[in-house]
Amino acid sequence: MAPDMKRWSSPSPSVTDLYRDLHRHPELSGRETRTAARLASELSLRQFDVTHGVGGTGVVGMLRNGDGPTVLLRADIDGLPIREATGAPYASAATGVDRDGTTVPVMHACGHDLHAAALIGAIDVLQACGDRWAGTVAVVFQPAEETGEGALAMVADGLAGIVGTPTVALGQHVSPVPAGAVVTAEGVYGAASDNFRIRIHGVGGHASSPEAAVDPIIVAAAIVMRLQTVISRETAAHEPAVLTVSSIHAGHAENAIPDEAELTVNLRSFNASTRHRLINAVRRIVEAEAAAAGMEQSPSVERISGAPLLLNDPHATHRTFGAIGESGLDAHIVTQPMTGSEDFGVIGDALGCPSVFWHWGGTAPDRYSPQELSSLLTEGRLPAHIPMNHSPEYLPDLDWALPAGIHAMSTAALHWLQAS
Ligand SMILES: [Zn+2]
Ligand SMILES: [Zn+2]
Repeated sequence: MAPDMKRWSSPSPSVTDLYRDLHRHPELSGRETRTAARLASELSLRQFDVTHGVGGTGVVGMLRNGDGPTVLLRADIDGLPIREATGAPYASAATGVDRDGTTVPVMHACGHDLHAAALIGAIDVLQACGDRWAGTVAVVFQPAEETGEGALAMVADGLAGIVGTPTVALGQHVSPVPAGAVVTAEGVYGAASDNFRIRIHGVGGHASSPEAAVDPIIVAAAIVMRLQTVISRETAAHEPAVLTVSSIHAGHAENAIPDEAELTVNLRSFNASTRHRLINAVRRIVEAEAAAAGMEQSPSVERISGAPLLLNDPHATHRTFGAIGESGLDAHIVTQPMTGSEDFGVIGDALGCPSVFWHWGGTAPDRYSPQELSSLLTEGRLPAHIPMNHSPEYLPDLDWALPAGIHAMSTAALHWLQAS
């Protein structure tokens, strides 16, 4: 069904202002104190019972409206250490202090500000028609999604004791596809991700006398190249997996050999056996390259973050997308999972309820030419002029993205709240 924007509810000016405020004041993962306080006060204004500080900066709000299902609605709230280059009038000039103590620029480059504002807008829709549904709305504003830590932290800090066992957990993410489209998969929807920090311990020395040193840069370079064969030579063509060396650091002076090199590696996989095979291959290659260079001290391979597979309950997803598709949004159920990852599934797993997660389009449809739209649909290819999430230029088109997100979330929530 083609999208019908006239059926989407427009956000109140205060929800649009909330979005702009969150966008202007992004905070790093686990440091979302201002964001959490702002969202908690929005929930209190709307008569929710609010619990602060769940898993660090997480916020949980409960709204009871008679007997009926409990529907958990989750939005993540963290920004990224990226300098915003969107040129928006409400662009961020914020900085934050990262875990290494370095001051970094911060930006809502993944759209989590929009997730939070759209969830508040969806609550307004639900409250405006409170006589048409019964049950409990459990709102979860989750910190630290980007580092894969926030959902686990909220669960470990007693989320179940606040929300009980919901009937369903719903979550959504904005993407650069045209507004009006919503996309999900039944079953595996997001990759498991595993991030490793690798430290290679060489022997430093003078650049003029490499024979007296053990050069960690050569070993790092060999590791980077050899790791490319884990996917290209060790992984079957029909087995989806991704391995990216995402950072490499070594040395300072132009006339010295450093004593250490550090790499980070990001893995994405879609089942447990591939995941274990990739992790073992990384360890094997790192250790073997260090041994080949005659390093006495073994390198360290430390898992620093990640997220489990994102599993959409097939039945609950089918139901939810049926309702979304009938509501004036163009609902696509795809068969290929995305290679992106999400820790949303941790919540449903821990609470023992089905999870449904989807992406919604946040880009004005007229920014796509008909040809670009068709290559998006057939090959999943984004046009070069449309930045994607995590780009310094990524910015949802507010007039489209916010109403579409509110409409998708409120439609999905109402479907479950009216199903008692
Ligand atoms: Zn992200
Ligand atoms: Zn995100």
